This record gives sequence, structure tokens and C-alpha cells, in this order.
Amino acid sequence: MRLDLTDPVALTRQLVDVPSVSGDEAVIADLVEAALREAGLAVERDGNCLVARTDLGRAERVLLAGHLDTVPIAGNVPSQLAGGRIHGCGTSDMKSGLAVLLHLAATVVEPSCDLTVVAYDCEEVDAARNGLARIAREHRDWLEADLAILMEGTDGAVEGGCQGTLRVRLDARGRRAHSARSWLGDDAIHHLAAPLAALAAYEPRSVTIDGCTYREGLNAVAIDGGVAGNVIPDEASLTVNFRFAPDRTVEEAYAHVVEVVGPCVVVDSAAGALPRLDEPAAAAFVAVTGTAPVAKYGWTDVARFAALGMPALNFGPGDPNLAHTREESVEIAKITASADLLRAYLTR
Ligand SMILES: [Zn+2]
Repeated sequence: MRLDLTDPVALTRQLVDVPSVSGDEAVIADLVEAALREAGLAVERDGNCLVARTDLGRAERVLLAGHLDTVPIAGNVPSQLAGGRIHGCGTSDMKSGLAVLLHLAATVVEPSCDLTVVAYDCEEVDAARNGLARIAREHRDWLEADLAILMEGTDGAVEGGCQGTLRVRLDARGRRAHSARSWLGDDAIHHLAAPLAALAAYEPRSVTIDGCTYREGLNAVAIDGGVAGNVIPDEASLTVNFRFAPDRTVEEAYAHVVEVVGPCVVVDSAAGALPRLDEPAAAAFVAVTGTAPVAKYGWTDVARFAALGMPALNFGPGDPNLAHTREESVEIAKITASADLLRAYLTR
């Protein structure tokens, strides 16, 4: 079997029909590598990550990225065609986006910028296995560009940057006692009343950056405590998640959470990405789309590009609401529209 990069719609179906659940991307990576080489591109490979680049000496370089893997198949492979849509595992998330970027890499003649395409593994699993993170760590020069476009599904919208995330834990300590003699104890669960009240009363901030409005959220996401039905507990903990706008660093976000809920320890964190839509390569892309960009809610791999110092945005044909569902599908018109739009941008 070989991949045919000439038509992004047929290519989406071909890619969906090659199962590539996270950790099992070797077959699809081999096919993609062969197709990119056949298209005349120089290809670098690390494990099941592929980076192909043109070398035309243009003043600007644009990078298009997508992951090769999918979540476990839910009886929805091979793909089906119905109602103007392709149905199947990975159609929306994100083999349609992958098809568009591979198609463009093979078929754009005389681009106005140099082009880098990145296809990586293990996006749908633990961040420690993420192929893009590995490339960023070990082959940073492969990713050099003036703009990165992550082609995860946005239903055709331009979503700037991404929010950051911080999880913290508050550990309350009290004194254990028999609940029949509760005055001898100190109930740790009660110590969480004040931070919970602060969270319930908290008014999250909205901030507009480069025309994108980021809505923050600070919420309790887990609570843990209790020994037995007749014991005053001496330990309780509360886990809080802060989804913060990209104008705060992780450190600033943590300082803010401490201000609201008091002392706490960081469980995990990931910095957001500023939209940077005023940078020339990004501004030109927004101009070609002719639509107003919106904020990305949630954390995405654009933050990995932002951490390397380049502006990065999300733009892809898939519908994020259908990702990871049995009913996953992608609208064919969205595939062709995003390919046309990117072609116009790359040849502007
Ligand atoms: Zn995805």
C-alpha cells in the first residue's frame, strides 16, 4: 500500500484505514515517510516522529504539525462515507488535519515561504511519551520556524495560543478523636471550609489578548478525607485546578492561587501560549482566513512551540466535540476548505 497525497479527502480515508492507536504508529509512520520522500522532501525521523522540510531559501518558514496516533478504536475502522462526512476513528482527531498538511507538503508549488511538516506519535497518552516533546528536546533545530500551525480540529476556526493549567493540593491537618468526644479532636475536613468558600465566591477573570478572550477558571476538582463514621479525621485534602490565561506564567498563576486558597503544593502544571497574532506570519494567516480568531480553551501542543519561542496557533478541519467519540466524523467540505485556505496562505 502507498499513500496518495494528491487529494486530501481520499487521503483522510486512507489514513483512517491504517490503525494507529498510540504506541502502535510504526506502520502509518512508514507510509507517511515513504510518501513524503516520494514527494521529494528531505525527511528526518526519530522513532515514529517525522519532520520534512523544503529548503528554498525563503525569508519565512511555516511549520504545520499533526499527530499520527488515535485513541483506541471503537468499532469505527475502516472509514465510512455518509452525509457529506467521513466517519471513523481519528477522522476529526486528527487524520483529516494530517491529510491536509501532507497533501500541501506534496502539492504546493512555488510557496512564498519554506515549509516544515511534522507528524508525531503518542499525543493521546501520557505527556511523558509525547513525540513532539521528544523532538523539541532532542532535535530543536528541526522545528525552527516563524509560525507553527497545529492542525488539531478547530472546526475550521483559528484558535490563538492556549490556556495554561495548574493543579494544586491543600493538605489540612487536625487531630484524631472519637466522634463521641469530638471536643478532644480537631476536624481536618472543617479546615477546608474556608478555601472551599473562597473558591465558591471566586470571580474568574476574562482577558482579551490579540482579540482572543480567554476565560479563566479556578475550581475544586477533588476532595479526600475521612477515617470512619465514628472518627474525627486528622487529615483531609482538596485538589484545585486553575485554568489560566496565557498572560500569566505558571509561577504567577501559582502565586494567585495561594492568594485565594492559602498554602498549597503544586501537583502538576503546564504553561499556556500567548496568541502572538500580531507577528507577521500569524497576522498574514489570520488575514487570509478573513475570520476573527478566538481563544483556545484547554491546553494543546501549541504550548510546546510557544516554549521554543515561536508564535503558534490551532487550525484544523476536525470538530473537537466529536473527538474520542464512537460517532467521530469529519465534514468533507471542512477538509477541502482548510486545504484551500492554507494553500492560499502558503502561496500568497
Ligand atoms: Zn488530537
